Amino acid sequence: MDHKLIDILVCPLCKGELQYSKKAQELICRFDKLAYPIKDDIPVMLEEQARKVSAEELD
Ligand SMILES: [Zn+2]
Repeated sequence: MDHKLIDILVCPLCKGELQYSKKAQELICRFDKLAYPIKDDIPVMLEEQARKVSAEELD
């Protein structure tokens, strides 16, 4: 996935920076503890599609 694209993507909720998880193919917002899925190289920036992540996963 294009890293330039990741740089300009922000969380739709808090407008904060996202962390790219290559392994899980997710974009993670540490503030909201949500992981947005990347499907076929396209980030799905929808809260209802996002997975809740636990505090342990963020470390
Ligand atoms: Zn957020």
